[in-house]
Amino acid sequence: MKDHYAFPHFNYWDSNSIRAEIAAAEELKLPVILAWAQKHSAEISMEDALGLGKFFGAKAKVPVILHLDHGFTPELVKKGVDDGFTSVMIDASDKDFDTNVAITKDIAEYAHARGVVEAEIGHVGTNSTKDDSKYTEVDAAKEFAEKAGVDSLAVSIGTSHGIYQTGTPKLNFKRLSELRAAMKIPLVLHGGSSSGDQDLQKAAELGITKVNIYTDLAMASLHATQKQKFAMEPDMAAAQKKAIKDLCEHYYHVFETDKYQYRV
Ligand SMILES: [Zn+2]
Repeated sequence: MKDHYAFPHFNYWDSNSIRAEIAAAEELKLPVILAWAQKHSAEISMEDALGLGKFFGAKAKVPVILHLDHGFTPELVKKGVDDGFTSVMIDASDKDFDTNVAITKDIAEYAHARGVVEAEIGHVGTNSTKDDSKYTEVDAAKEFAEKAGVDSLAVSIGTSHGIYQTGTPKLNFKRLSELRAAMKIPLVLHGGSSSGDQDLQKAAELGITKVNIYTDLAMASLHATQKQKFAMEPDMAAAQKKAIKDLCEHYYHVFETDKYQYRV
């Protein structure tokens, strides 16, 4: 698609990561999607994550979207809507089609009074379980979006969550083009980390609107601590923040978000 670009979605897990992500967006004068995922409850609770998101979001010089990523339980997603996430994802992609539709529809109806809903069809698995992912079927995606009434849809075209053990994945661009041609709502790519910049750029050009990034940010932060010795912890935290910020800026360029016309 001519001039199509995507927005990055950055997961945050502490005050350092969220400040780094906002700093990158401010540097480029672009909006930012900040996300907390239910699976990160052990590191930071939803309440604490929302607190951080609202505090730093209000101070940010760019528009901030607070997104609840992969909510597996409808109760938690509804609470997230009530408590202030501006966008939520219900993930019932491990259920059968009809159950996924029913759960997602319920959340869509609940959230539409206040927010935006993302769902997933064609499970984007993790690398720990082989063959956990399967490509999203075009007809099923179309039927799902219509029946469940979602605003955006995460599709599976070959990426996985987490670290790739066997090199960069092979993305199914043919399927992506077919999905894009058949669907009206924005399409989301999960597991964007380390999927290869060229392929991610191509995915954005072919019609992906949002690319989720977590693992690469967490790894960049880790690697920053391993490259050199620090005299004091704050020096290390500063290096981690810089590494995360630099990578966020990198992904804005890869997805060509710079084409966004309404810069602040
Ligand atoms: Zn995901």
